[in-house]
Amino acid sequence: MQDNVVIVGTGQAALSCAVRLRDSGYEGAVTMLGDEPWLPYQRPPLSKAYLKGETTADRLEFRPQEFFAKAGIVVERGSRVTSVDRNKRSVTTSDGRSYSYTKLVLTTGSRARTLPDAMTHGLEGILTLRSIADADRLRRALADAKRIVVIGGGYVGLEVASVAVRMGHAVTIVEMADRVLRRVAGAPTAEAIEELHVRYGATILTNALLTAFSGHSGKVAGAALESGTMLPADLVLVAIGGMANVELAAEAGLTVENGIVVDKFGQTSDADIYAAGDCAAFPFGGRLIRIESVQNAIEQGGVVANAILGSPVEYEPVPWFWSDQYDTKLQTAGLALDYDDILTVSTEPGCSAFWYFRDGLAVAVDTMNDAKTHMAARRIFGARVALRRELLLKPDFNLMQYVRTAAAPTG
Ligand SMILES: Cc1cc2nc3c(=O)[nH]c(=O)nc-3n(C[C@H](O)[C@H](O)[C@H](O)COP(=O)(O)OP(=O)(O)OC[C@H]3O[C@@H](n4cnc5c(N)ncnc54)[C@H](O)[C@@H]3O)c2cc1C
Repeated sequence: MQDNVVIVGTGQAALSCAVRLRDSGYEGAVTMLGDEPWLPYQRPPLSKAYLKGETTADRLEFRPQEFFAKAGIVVERGSRVTSVDRNKRSVTTSDGRSYSYTKLVLTTGSRARTLPDAMTHGLEGILTLRSIADADRLRRALADAKRIVVIGGGYVGLEVASVAVRMGHAVTIVEMADRVLRRVAGAPTAEAIEELHVRYGATILTNALLTAFSGHSGKVAGAALESGTMLPADLVLVAIGGMANVELAAEAGLTVENGIVVDKFGQTSDADIYAAGDCAAFPFGGRLIRIESVQNAIEQGGVVANAILGSPVEYEPVPWFWSDQYDTKLQTAGLALDYDDILTVSTEPGCSAFWYFRDGLAVAVDTMNDAKTHMAARRIFGARVALRRELLLKPDFNLMQYVRTAAAPTG
């Protein structure tokens, strides 16, 4: 069979893989099969500019149709892959078509975690946010609603809350942990973000467990908490995290844990099948992790393409992420895993950096409105240069100078 790559999914990781294949001279067929009706598009604006109505759906698409035609990348939209036959090396779609492959790439992404029907009772006005279709629904609902309850104090919930507050709505964020951003950031970052929301007028309830919804004429009317509080609501956004889309891989007998398990080259337990992006669990710092971010989707998609091209490069990422809330850009460089200390550094009024350390060495930093520190940290972590806590504490320490000398490219 002629070389031929089939990619399941048409998201950020799929696009990155397909483009890298073509840019590196891959001559076989490249086919992307996606179940959504759009060309590959960006998700981050769905909780930011798109939700505010500042941009349109066609502007979210990474590349126009002509680009794909010119690059010789086939994008099949509305095409859900329902099974993988590893013996025959082919996949089948819900409309009964089958596509054979020499290499298969799974970039099935993740989906919004939902609450059980026994809790939502099919009430109108309880929404999640993942796709353009979800964002359109949310936008329409926001136009009519006055009282919004956001379940979950993660990035998506906080971003939507900030948009809704700015639209003049009364917004309550319900978080079952003792603070927001529990899974992804330390206490100082979370405190600063909570302060920001409260300053703009949102209400944040922590240690607050949702128990039920009340409804009126089939529409949500309130959210009940374990404490006995009933929060009136015309609209509820359930933003309680993402779940990797692993079912296709699991049914095909691939190794699956919290995601589709891959090695440092993006290869699954089948040598002809790769996975990248939100759906993939990869080795990092002695464990398997899964990252839902643009950086990860882009870079891991590229790593998979390299492996397919026969020039494998290990995936050793310096993760980075951003989130926009009100007038604040929160950025993260590195991964705050197993840290034992956090140091807050305020560079200028309104700009803060929260450095995470393990054994005295910086492993990650969250910054608020401090893009310079964010970029410097990415260079430091990328160059594997040690940055000790004592250094950051020195009054005359200049991070930019340190980057220029210690993390300067060699050769
Ligand atoms: C509202 C929102 C805001 C975000 N904001 C940020 C941000 O500010 N910064 C940041 O770094 N990241 C952000 N992210 C995360 C980022 O968008 C994702 O990490 C990224 O899109 C992952 O890309 P992916 O290609 O792995 O998956 P996806 O973009 O999810 O693409 C996977 C695609 O595969 C399709 N698919 C799944 N199963 C099948 C199948 N069986 N057959 C065919 N198609 C299938 C899915 O429908 C989907 O279209 C945000 C995400 C959301 C939802």
